[in-house]
Amino acid sequence: QNGLTLSVQIRPYGDGLRLILTQDVTERLRADAMRRDFVANVSHEIRTPLTVLAGFVETLTNLPLTPVERQRVLALMTQQTNRMQSLVSDLLTLAQLEGSPRPPADHWVPVSALLQQVELEAQALSKGRHQLVFHEPGQPAAAIAGHQSELLSALANLVSNAVRYTPDGGRIEVRWLAGSTTQPGCFEVRDTGIGIAREHLPRITERFYRVDGSRSRETGGTGLGLSIVKHVLQRHGAELEVDSEPGKGSCFRIVVPAVRTRYVQAVPSIGPA
Ligand code: ADP
Repeated sequence: QNGLTLSVQIRPYGDGLRLILTQDVTERLRADAMRRDFVANVSHEIRTPLTVLAGFVETLTNLPLTPVERQRVLALMTQQTNRMQSLVSDLLTLAQLEGSPRPPADHWVPVSALLQQVELEAQALSKGRHQLVFHEPGQPAAAIAGHQSELLSALANLVSNAVRYTPDGGRIEVRWLAGSTTQPGCFEVRDTGIGIAREHLPRITERFYRVDGSRSRETGGTGLGLSIVKHVLQRHGAELEVDSEPGKGSCFRIVVPAVRTRYVQAVPSIGPA
């Protein structure tokens, strides 16, 4: 009933029988509490930039500003608008991931295509502030069973975090570590950034969990990136692994099981006779 198990017990009672019906509502209470927390978090995340925007609108309306001051206010308003746009876009992505069926297992996404696209995104985000090293995937060529845009968004989220949590001058390395027909393969995103203390690691894929809220927001984070990654990987039968050391850096790995990875030996090209 309502997805909950109803237990029925029949016990002797006086001259007759007593029927006892029990329902364990622990799961439902937990789900209700999570839903309430989520709504409260979303409201808070939207209210903050809205309040700031309202303040700026008032400033623009009531204060005689110089053209330079006006430009500064408009730039700050754009920042807050972008923040809300990213939040809504991440919320929609999460909702779509939760509501859509698992991606078909017979669509093969080449690893090299994912790496090429994510390299362009990393360059655009880093704007030359970091040393970006993208290793060639090598031979035989690997492909992953799944959904190209979802896999790309998972990898891009890890790379964007590496850029945002690595100070200027740091190094970010991305590679595909080939498995075999029986061994899993994996994407590795390694940075020399601020790292994450051990006690935070079990919670970083929770929605809106941030180690340092102000740093995450300042760099354009929504607090939803890793929960999107987690959902995408679950749908692809893959797993997320993290090693990190504060002050030294982090290494995130997307581990793809052998059954969802295919390797194809490149056919040697035939040169001129
Ligand atoms: P956010 O939008 O805040 O980055 P995420 O869900 O992507 O949200 O990540 C959750 C938190 O995990 C971040 O707020 C940050 O504290 C931490 N984190 C994620 N990736 C890294 C990284 N590469 N280096 C250091 N901290 C990270």
